[in-house]
Amino acid sequence: MSSIEQTLSIIKPDAVERNLNENIKKFFLKNKLKIVKEKKIQITKEEAAEFYKVHQTKPFYERLCSYLSSGPITVMILEGVNAIQENRKIMGATDPKNAEDGTIRKEYGISIDKNSVHGSDSIENAKKEIEFFFKS
Ligand code: UDP
Ligand code: MG
Repeated sequence: MSSIEQTLSIIKPDAVERNLNENIKKFFLKNKLKIVKEKKIQITKEEAAEFYKVHQTKPFYERLCSYLSSGPITVMILEGVNAIQENRKIMGATDPKNAEDGTIRKEYGISIDKNSVHGSDSIENAKKEIEFFFKS
C-alpha cells in the first residue's frame, strides 16, 4: 500500500555546522520527498529532552539532549508517498559505520552521536514530532 504521508526531518548540529543543508535537502528532493515546511532554530536542552523522551531510560539520553541543543538545527516537514519509511531509507542506519552507500548518514555522518539527521520512525511519532515543532 502506498499513501501520501508527512514526516519530520531534522538536520542536526553537526551537519548544519558544516553547511550541509543544501546537500542534504537534495537527497530528499531526488527521492521525491517534498519539503513543505522548514525552519532553522536552536532548541534548549529541556526542549531536546522533551523531544527525545522515548529515549529517557537509555544510557545515551543525557548526551543526546545536550548534543541536539548544542547549535542550530534545521527542522522540516517532508511529504511524499510512504514518506516515513522513504526518509528512513534515505537517511541510512543510525550508526554511519553501518549505513548503506548512497545514504545521508553514510555520506555525512561522523559517528553514532553526530549522525547528521533525524527522521520520524512511525506514523504516530511523525504526527507527534511535527506537532512538536510546527504547532500553530
Ligand atoms: N544514539 C546514540 N547512541 C546509541 C544510539 C543512539 O548516541 O547507542 C543517538 C543517535 O544520534 C540517534 C539518536 O540517539 O540518532 C536516536 O536514536 P534512535 O535509536 O532513535 O536512532 P535513529 O532513529 O535516529 O536512527
Ligand atoms: Mg529514532
